[in-house]
Amino acid sequence: MGKKYVYSFKEGSKEMKSLLGGKGSNLAEMTNIGLPVPPGFTITTEACNRFYDEGQKLWPELLEEIYLNLAEVEKTLGKRFSDQSNPLLVSVRSGAVFSMPGMMDTILNLGLNDDAVKGLISSTGNERFAYDSYRRFIQMFSDIAMGIPKRKFDEVMEKMKEDKGVHLDTELEAEDLKELVRRFKDVYYEDMGTEFPQDPMKQLQLAIEAVFSSWNNPRAVIYRKLHDIPGNLGTAVNVQSMVYGNMGDTSGTGVAFTRNPANGENKIYGEFLMNAQGEDVVAGIRTPKSISELEEVMPEVFEEFRKVTNILESHYRDMQDIEFTIEKGKLFMLQTRTGKRTTQAAINIAVDLVNEGKISKDEAILRIEPNQLNQLLHPAFDTKKLAESEVLAKGLPASPGAASGKIYFHAKDVVEAKGRGEKAILVRQETSPEDIEGMIMAEGILTARGGMTSHAAVVARGMGKCCVAGCSEVRVDELQKTMKSGSITLKEGDYISLDGSIGTVYLGDIPKVEPELSGHFGEFMSWVDEVRRLKVRTNADTPKDSAQAVKFGAEGIGLCRTEHMFFDEARIPAVRRMIVSNSETQRKKALEELLPLQRKDFYEIYKIMEERPVTIRLLDPPLHEFLPSNAKDIEELAKSMGIAAEDLKDTVESLEEVNPMLGHRGCRLAVTYPEIYRMQTRAIIEAALDYKVNDGVEIVPEIMIPLIGDADELTYVKKEVIAEIEDVFRERSDSIEYMIGTMIEVPRAAITADDIAKEAEFFSFGTNDLTQMGFGFSRDDSGKFLNAYVDKGIFAKSPFEVLDQRGIGKMMEIAVDLGRKTRPDIKLGICGEHGGEPSSVEFCHRIGLDYVSCSPYRVPIARLAAAQAVVKERMNLQLDK
Ligand code: ADP
Ligand code: MG
Ligand code: MG
Repeated sequence: MGKKYVYSFKEGSKEMKSLLGGKGSNLAEMTNIGLPVPPGFTITTEACNRFYDEGQKLWPELLEEIYLNLAEVEKTLGKRFSDQSNPLLVSVRSGAVFSMPGMMDTILNLGLNDDAVKGLISSTGNERFAYDSYRRFIQMFSDIAMGIPKRKFDEVMEKMKEDKGVHLDTELEAEDLKELVRRFKDVYYEDMGTEFPQDPMKQLQLAIEAVFSSWNNPRAVIYRKLHDIPGNLGTAVNVQSMVYGNMGDTSGTGVAFTRNPANGENKIYGEFLMNAQGEDVVAGIRTPKSISELEEVMPEVFEEFRKVTNILESHYRDMQDIEFTIEKGKLFMLQTRTGKRTTQAAINIAVDLVNEGKISKDEAILRIEPNQLNQLLHPAFDTKKLAESEVLAKGLPASPGAASGKIYFHAKDVVEAKGRGEKAILVRQETSPEDIEGMIMAEGILTARGGMTSHAAVVARGMGKCCVAGCSEVRVDELQKTMKSGSITLKEGDYISLDGSIGTVYLGDIPKVEPELSGHFGEFMSWVDEVRRLKVRTNADTPKDSAQAVKFGAEGIGLCRTEHMFFDEARIPAVRRMIVSNSETQRKKALEELLPLQRKDFYEIYKIMEERPVTIRLLDPPLHEFLPSNAKDIEELAKSMGIAAEDLKDTVESLEEVNPMLGHRGCRLAVTYPEIYRMQTRAIIEAALDYKVNDGVEIVPEIMIPLIGDADELTYVKKEVIAEIEDVFRERSDSIEYMIGTMIEVPRAAITADDIAKEAEFFSFGTNDLTQMGFGFSRDDSGKFLNAYVDKGIFAKSPFEVLDQRGIGKMMEIAVDLGRKTRPDIKLGICGEHGGEPSSVEFCHRIGLDYVSCSPYRVPIARLAAAQAVVKERMNLQLDK
C-alpha cells in the first residue's frame, strides 16, 4: 500500500497538527472527544507538497482515497452526491499548520447542481433555503476556485434587490433566488466560456486544487516571509459535510471565545447571526448579535453551547476560539483553536486557570511570551489631557492600548510615513490581509466596519497593537483620503488618538503617561519571582530611570554609566576644560568642579536604590566625544577658557582618532590621566559615606573598570582607585565596604579571566563590546551590512540583538569557568543589551551568572525569561527521567 494521504476526522488527533493542519487536527480531536462535528476528512499537508511535485495536479491514487472517504461520509449520513431526495453537500476548507491569511477561503455547499437542488428541496421542504444555498455556492466557487471577480455576482444581486424593491438578502423569495441562480450561471458562462460544472466530483477536484495552489499565492508567500514560516510546510484541505445555519429562525451561525480575549474575563464572548451561513457574521452584511442574546433566543442551545465550551477548555486547558452553526435548534462545532488574546488577557487567563486548578503555576509562567509584556508596560493617555480632548467617535474596543498619529488611508502610505519618521494611524473601511505591512508599521488601527472578530480586530490583538474597529460613526473615503464624523472632516495627515481599551477616537495628538499595572499582573509576577534564580538588575544612569526600574522590580543597578552625567549642559564646560587642560594642575582644578556634581548624582541614585546593590562604571568613552566639533563652538569654548581658538582646535584635532572604538577609551584613559578615575572614585565613596551618615543606610558600592584586556592593566588602575579610597577614609575618619571589579568585554580578558579574577571581585559581561570585538563587527558601521546577513539567512538575527551563544557565549562560558577557578565566590553578571533579551537571559541562567542587567522597561521581561529558564530546566529533567 502506498502512503496514506487522507484521514477521516475519526482517525486524527490534535497531536497531528503538522500533517493535518491546525483546523483538521482540531476537528479530529473534537470528533474523538464526542463533540457534535459534521463528519468529514482531511487531505494532508504532505499531499500538498506532492501536488507540486506532480506539476500541480491531483494524481489517481489520491483521487481514489478521496472517493473512499467520501463514500464513508455518504454512508454515515445516508446522503449521496447529486441525490434527488437527500443530497450530500460539503465544505472545502483550507487549513495550514499556522493559521495564515492569504490562503484560499472556504467554499460552502459544494455538491450543489440542478439535481441536488431538487433533492435539497425535497429533503428539507424548504425551497427558499435550497436556492439560497445554490446561489451562494455558485458565487463562492466561481470567485474562490475559478477567480471570477465576486463583484460581478454582487452587481447581479444588487440589481435583483433593486428590481424587487428590497434591502436585505433575506427578503428575497424562493422564486427570486431561483432566478438569481440562472443569472449567476450566465455570469460563469460569460467569464469562463464553459457551463458551470455540474459533476460534484469535478467541483471537488477543482476546489482542492485551488486550495493547494493558494499555498503559493503572493499574499501567502509574503505573510510567511514576514512570520518566518517555512515555505515547504504545505497546507491541508478539509472536506466536511455541510450543516445549515440558513434554514430559518431556529438556525444560525457564530464565532465565540470561551473567555474575553481583550481582558480575560471568564465569560463566553462572541457574536452570532440567525438564519445565516458561513462568513456572514464577520462580513458585516447584517449586524451580529452578542452571544448573551443566544441565551434568550434559544436557552437550550445556549446551555448545550456552554457545556461544549467547558469541555473544550478543560480538554485543551486554555481559552479557545470557536466557530459553530445551529441547524434547526441543533448545535454543531466547526472549528476550535487556542484563542489569540492581549497580554493583559493572557495574564488574567493564566492566573485564573491556575486558581481554577486547570494548569500549574509553571505552565502559567510558560504561557506568556516575555516580549509580550511590552504591551502592558506601555504608556496610557494622560487623563487630564484626555478630559480636555474632543471625542470624535466611538467604536468597538478591539485591541487595547493608546495610540496617536497622523491618519493614512492606505497601508502603503503608512509604510511611507513611517519611513519619514512619522507616527501613523491606519484608517480603513475594513482591513484585509494585503494591509498587513501597514498594520505592523502603524501606531494604531481604526476601521469603520467589522466586529470584534473582524480581520482588523483579530490581527491587531495578535500583534498587541491598539485597534478601534467597527466605528460606524465615521465615514471613510479611501479614494478621497478623508474621514468624516458628524460635521468634522479629517484629511490625510491630520492627527487623531485612539483608545483601544474603550473604543474611543479623539481629535488631535494626546500626550501619554506611565501605565498602572493592574489585574492579576502582580500575582503572576510574584510566581515568576518565586521560581527564578537569576537576579535582575537595571542599566540606569539617572535617579528617574532608577526609580522607574525599581517600580518594574529591579533588584539593583548593574550598570550606571557616568559619561551621561558629563553631558549635562551645565557641566559640559567643566568637562571640556578638564579634557583640554595641558597641565595636571589645570586638569585637577576642572575635576574639582565636577566632583560635587557627581557626588550628588550618586547620592540621589543610592537613595532611590536603598539597600540594593549599585555598580558604577568609571568613564568609558573616548574624550573627543565631549569636545565641540564645529568652528563656532570651538571659538566660544576657547573664549570662556581664555585660550587661543587655534590652540584649542589643535587639541581637538589631536584627540581625534581613526578608530575610536578601539582607541583611547575605557581604562586606557586612567592609564594616561589617573586623576579622572580618582575624582570619580572619590565621588562614589564620599556619596556612600554621606548616605551612611545622613540616612543610616550602608551600601556596598561596586566600582567597575571598563575595557580591561590584561590583568596588569587592572592591577595598575586598581592601585590608583584604592589609593583614592584610602585618602577619603583618612580624611573622613570613616570607612565602608566596597568592591572593585571589571567588565569582561575584550576577548583577551575572557580567555585570561583566571588572571583577571585575581584582581577583580566581580565580572560584568559587556556583551555589546564583546560581540563587536569578538566578531570584529564595528557597532557603528554594522547597520550597513548586517541586514544583508539576515536577509540572506547567514544569521537568523543580528548578534547585537540576540546573543551569539555559540561564539560570544562560549567566551563567556570560558570566562565564568576561569574566573571561578581563581575566585569561587566571584560575582557574575551581564550588562550588555542582551541582558533584556529573553533567549539571551535563558543562556545567562544556564551558564550560571548571578544576575542580568537591562534597561528599566525590560526588567519585567528579563524576570519572566529568567523564570522560564528554570521551568524549562525542570521539564527537561523530567523528560530525561
Ligand atoms: P476560516 O479559516 O476563514 O475561518 P473556515 O474553513 O473556518 O474558514 O470556514 C468559515 C466558516 O464557514 C465557518 O466558520 C462556518 O461558519 C462555515 N463552514 C465551514 N464548514 C462548514 C460546514 N461543514 N457546515 C456549515 N458551515 C461551515
Ligand atoms: Mg475566513
Ligand atoms: Mg474558521
